[in-house]
Amino acid sequence: MKTTPNRRGKKSSVLYRTNPMSEQTFSTNQLYGFLPSTIEGINSLAALALDMRWSWNHTADKLWQQLDPDLWELTNNPWVVLQTVSRDRVEQLLSDPGFRENLDSILQAKEQANTLPAWFHKKFPDVKLTAVAYFSMEFMLSDALPIYVGGLGNVAGDQLKSASDLGVPVVAIGLFYQQGYFHQEIDKNGNQLERYPYNDPGQLPITPLRLPNGEWLRLKISIAGYPVWLRTWQVQAGRVKLFLLDSNDAANLPVHRGITNELYGGGADLRMKQELILGIGGWRLLRALGIKPEVCHMNEGHAAFLVLERANDYMKETGTSFKEALMVTRSGNLFTTHTAVPAGFDHFKPSLMQQMLGSYSQEELSIDFEELMALGRWDPKDQTEDFKMAYLAIRGCGAINGVSSLHEKVSKKLFMNLFPRWPVEEVPIGHVTNGVHMPSWDSEISDKIWTQTCGKDRWRGNLGNLEEQMVAVSDETLWQMRNSSRSNLVNFTRNQFERQLSISGRPTEMIEIARQVFNPNTLTLGFARRFVPYKRPNLLLHDPERLIRILTHPTQPVQLVLAGKAAPFDEVGKALIRKWIQFINQNNLHHHVVFLDDYDMSLTENLVRGVDVWINTPKRPWEASGTSGMKVLVNGGINISSLDGWWAEAYSPDVGWAIGDEMDHGDDPIWDIKAAEELYDLLEKEVVPTFYNRDPNGIPTAWIKRMRNSMAKLTPRFSANRTVREYTGKYYLPAAEKYLRRAADNGKLGIKLIQQKQELEEKWHQLKFGIVETSGIQNGYFFKAEVYLGEIKPYEIMLELFADGIDGSAPKRIKMEPNSKNPESEGLYYQAEVITSRPADDFTARIIPNLEGLTVPLEINLIHWQR
Ligand SMILES: *Cc1c(COP(=O)(O)O)cnc(C)c1O
Repeated sequence: MKTTPNRRGKKSSVLYRTNPMSEQTFSTNQLYGFLPSTIEGINSLAALALDMRWSWNHTADKLWQQLDPDLWELTNNPWVVLQTVSRDRVEQLLSDPGFRENLDSILQAKEQANTLPAWFHKKFPDVKLTAVAYFSMEFMLSDALPIYVGGLGNVAGDQLKSASDLGVPVVAIGLFYQQGYFHQEIDKNGNQLERYPYNDPGQLPITPLRLPNGEWLRLKISIAGYPVWLRTWQVQAGRVKLFLLDSNDAANLPVHRGITNELYGGGADLRMKQELILGIGGWRLLRALGIKPEVCHMNEGHAAFLVLERANDYMKETGTSFKEALMVTRSGNLFTTHTAVPAGFDHFKPSLMQQMLGSYSQEELSIDFEELMALGRWDPKDQTEDFKMAYLAIRGCGAINGVSSLHEKVSKKLFMNLFPRWPVEEVPIGHVTNGVHMPSWDSEISDKIWTQTCGKDRWRGNLGNLEEQMVAVSDETLWQMRNSSRSNLVNFTRNQFERQLSISGRPTEMIEIARQVFNPNTLTLGFARRFVPYKRPNLLLHDPERLIRILTHPTQPVQLVLAGKAAPFDEVGKALIRKWIQFINQNNLHHHVVFLDDYDMSLTENLVRGVDVWINTPKRPWEASGTSGMKVLVNGGINISSLDGWWAEAYSPDVGWAIGDEMDHGDDPIWDIKAAEELYDLLEKEVVPTFYNRDPNGIPTAWIKRMRNSMAKLTPRFSANRTVREYTGKYYLPAAEKYLRRAADNGKLGIKLIQQKQELEEKWHQLKFGIVETSGIQNGYFFKAEVYLGEIKPYEIMLELFADGIDGSAPKRIKMEPNSKNPESEGLYYQAEVITSRPADDFTARIIPNLEGLTVPLEINLIHWQR
C-alpha cells in the first residue's frame, strides 16, 4: 500500500486542520478511554468515532469495518473498535490511499455539516434564540450508548439528530447510567432473563467534560441534606452536544454512587434522586458551562425539578422573589407530556419530598416547604396529597404539548382538573406529532433511491416537494428494493436466531434449523415492542389455528418476526412472551415465526428496513404516539395498526390498513376479540392476496401502489425533521421571545404580572352578572349582558359568549364589547351580535382575565360564568 509523500502531505493538511467551532481534537489525557496517541491521523479517527453522527451516517461504517470487521459487527461501536485494534492495523490503514480518501471525504463532509449555515440559520437569521436545553431521562442515539429503554428515548434521540441536521441550537441534558436498561435473553421455555452488562465509560463514545485548565468538571448538589458529587460527560452528536451526569464519583458515599446505576430501576426514592440530578444538577451544569438557554424543553415530567432550579438561579441573579422568578422563567419552559394514562405520571409522597427538598425550599428558594408542595398538588391545602411532577411541569411552564393530535385530546382530559370550570377543549395543551429521524432508520438501498430521487440534503431543509418526487419512482425500482431488503432481513434473522439458540444451549439439530428459517420471497410481517398489556402483543394469538393457517398457507405463506422486552418485574408481560415461544415450539413454526431476543436499536434497524408490513395493536387511546411504525415508512414497509396515536392521523385507505374504529372501548374484552378477528380478516382478504397478486413481470402492482403512497405521503410528515421545525416555530421561538420580554430589566414585566395576577385573583369574587338579554335579529341574535365588576377594572377582563362545538368541532367564542353603564346601578353593559342557526340558549356569557402578556388559562385560570 504505497502512497506518494506529496499526496499524503496534502491529505494531512486536511486532516489536521482544526476548527474550534466544529471539530474537537483530543489529547490522550482528555479522553476517558485509551488511544495510541502517537499515530499520525489517529486524532481525526477519534473525533469521528466520538461523534455520534456516524450512527446515522452509513458512509463511515466502512472505516470501522475495515479496522475490525468482527468487532464492528458485534458492537457497532467505533470507539471500541478504535481502542481495541492494534497499532499496526491502524497505521496500515491510515497509509492505505483508499482508506485515507474515504476518511478525508467523511471528515470534510462532517466539517461542512457542522459549519455551513443550516435551515435554522437561513430561516431565522436574526432571532434571539441562542440555546434550547432539552432535558430527558433517556436518549436513544445508538446502541453504542445504551442509556435508553424505548419510545421516550427514541423521541429524544431522533429529535437531537434532526436538530443537528437543521442547525437548531439545542443542547441536551441527560443521565449516564452505569447499567442502563437490561439486556434480554430468552431461555428455551420462553422465560425472560435480564442481564445488566456494565456500561464501561472508557468504551462508550463519551468524554469527560473538562474545563479549559484540564480539570474534570464536577458539580455538587445536595440530596436529602448530603452533598453528592456529579461527574459530567459530553456526547457529540453532529452539531449538537448532549451532556450527561452521573453520581458514580469516588468522593461519594456508596449509597449515592449507585443512584445513576439503572434506568427506571428501584422505587420512588431512587427515581426522585435521579430526577433531582437531572433537573437541578442539569441546570447547574448549564450554568457552570456558561450556557444560558432561553428555552428549556422538558421531555416528560421527569425533568420538572429544573423549573425550581432555573427560578432559583434567576432569583440569585436579580434579587427577585421565588414567585417572581418563576413567573419570569416559566415562560421559557416547554413541557411535552407523553403519557396517556394517569398511572404514567411520577408522584412522590410528602415525607419523601420533605426529606429531599425540605431544606432546599427554605435555604435556596426562601419559600415555605408547603408552598413548594403546592406546585405539585391539585389541592394546595391538602397536606396528604402526593407531589406530582407533571403538575410542577405545568405550573412551571409557558406551554404544554402532547405528541399526536389524539394525544392532545387525551391529555386535555387528564389535566382538566387543574383548570376547574374551563371546558375541556380549552385546557391549554397543544400537540406536535412525533416523527423519526429518517436517515437513522433508512436502509442503504432506500437511502440510494431517496438520494437519486430527492437529493442528498433532503432531510436538512423544509422538505419541499419530496412527495411529488417520490411518487415518480418506478414500480421496478421499488419492488427491487423491497426484495433485497427482505432478503437482508432473512439473513439477519437467521444469524441472530442461530446465535441466540447457541447461547441458550440448544441442540445442534435445532441450530441447524435456525440457519434455514424463513424465505426471502415470503411476505414478512414485523411486530416488536415493549410487552405491556395495552399494546396487546398477543392479539395475533387469539385464534392460534387461524394464525397457523395464515402463516402456513401452501401457496401464499407468511412469516413473522417478533421482538420485545417485558419490564423486569412485570410477570404479566413476561407471560405474554412465554406464550409466543410456546406457540412457536409446540406447533413447530420455526420456519414461520421467529422471536428475536434483546429488542434494541440495532435490532429495530434491521426489522424496519426489511419487513413488508409492520403490525401495531395498541388499545386506543393508550398509545400517545408510537414511533416504531414510522420507521418502516422510509423503507417502503406498510403499516397495519389500530387507529391510535400517530396512526389515527396518518391512516387513509391508500397508505395502509387500520383495525378497530375511532372509539375508545375501555377494557371490554369483546373489543379485543373483535380487533383480533379484524386483523385476521385483513391479513387473509387483503394483505396476503395483494402481496401475492403479480403482474406478468412478477410485480404486485396494487401492493406497490400502496407502498409508494405510504413512502411518499407519510415519510415527510412523520419525520423528526418536520417535528423539530414545528417545535421551533410553534414553541421555541415564541417561548424565547416571551422569556426575554419578561426577563428584561431584572424581570420588570414578570414582577408586574405577578402583582396584577394576585390583585385580580383577590378581587375576582366580586364579579357578578346582572341580566343577560337576548333578542332575535336577522340570522341570529343580539346579546346584551349586564355585569358588576366591583373593584376590577374593565381592562383587566374580557367578556365572551361561549358555545360548545358541535360534532367535535371547536367551541365558539365571541367577544362582547363594552357598551354603556347602567345609569341606575354600578352595572356595565356588554354586547355582541351572533350570526348563527343554533338556539340562543347554546350561548353562555362568561368573564375571563385579560392581562396583557399572561397566558389564559395556563397562567391564570380564573373564569366566571353567567350560569
Ligand atoms: C422505535 C423503538 C421503540 C418505540 O416503539 P413504539 O412501540 O412505537 O413506541 C421502542 N424501542 C425500540 C428499541 C425502538 O427502536
